[in-house]
Amino acid sequence: MAGLSISSVTKRFGETEVLKGVTLDVADAEFVSLVGPSGCGKSTLLRIIAGLEDPTSGDIAIDGKAVTGTRAADRNLSMVFQSYALYPHLTVAENIAVPLRMRSLSAVQRLPLIGPFLPGAKEQRSEIATAVQSATEMLEIGPLLDRKPGQLSGGQRQRVALGRALVRDPAAFLLDEPLSNLDAKLRVQTRAEIAQLHRRLKATFIYVTHDQVEAMTMSDRIAVMMGGEILQCDAPSVIYEDPSNIRVAEFIGSPK
Ligand code: ADP
Ligand code: MG
Repeated sequence: MAGLSISSVTKRFGETEVLKGVTLDVADAEFVSLVGPSGCGKSTLLRIIAGLEDPTSGDIAIDGKAVTGTRAADRNLSMVFQSYALYPHLTVAENIAVPLRMRSLSAVQRLPLIGPFLPGAKEQRSEIATAVQSATEMLEIGPLLDRKPGQLSGGQRQRVALGRALVRDPAAFLLDEPLSNLDAKLRVQTRAEIAQLHRRLKATFIYVTHDQVEAMTMSDRIAVMMGGEILQCDAPSVIYEDPSNIRVAEFIGSPK
């Protein structure tokens, strides 16, 4: 397991500076929520941590090792997207196995990897099957393994996306508004399950949400982001009772 260190990360898209020097240290096994209004740069920051986007400047370290410039597949992080991002032509079991198959292939083999998978060695296949099974047991989606994403409800799809994140046993989970497409009841239920996963796995979590209640109930600390900067990162009670400035107070809805 690993802590994450984000140092002075900036990101420009053309003329626009979307991240203006973000620094955040997340301890090993900590659960940090990242909250802030739409467009403040939350997804961009997560994508940079995951290696899906390069920062304009600044550094990312995982477990004390700089990873800036390395490929996403080599970072040992799992990202879960709001849109689930499942492969529609693959079954649930195949979707969950994707990160393991990607990892077991060489860089050259990975290049043309669109469509059918190359056959792996036998032992590799049984290792993959075992890992898929344990992830699906944890999420109680065993009966769905042969279905395609189009045959699943939103909640079930989100579980599959979580399963795919779990299966590679990552050092850290990056979740980008994973519950925002679910209805209120399912959101509360899935929230509890994510909290339980965090306790069980003792992995580091960065959880992007625009739901303050979610952030308040789940997090060790909440980072409040606005306009490409983190204004405050503290325990939920501190954020609520002692916001560092009026913009944080207004966003959180605290009494100050
Ligand atoms: P959030 O997740 O907090 O809603 P985002 O990180 O998605 O915010 O976006 C932050 C800002 O960066 C927005 O103004 C968005 O339009 C812009 N942005 C994000 N990705 C790109 C991109 N690939 N090219 C240009 N602008 C982008
Ligand atoms: Mg976003």
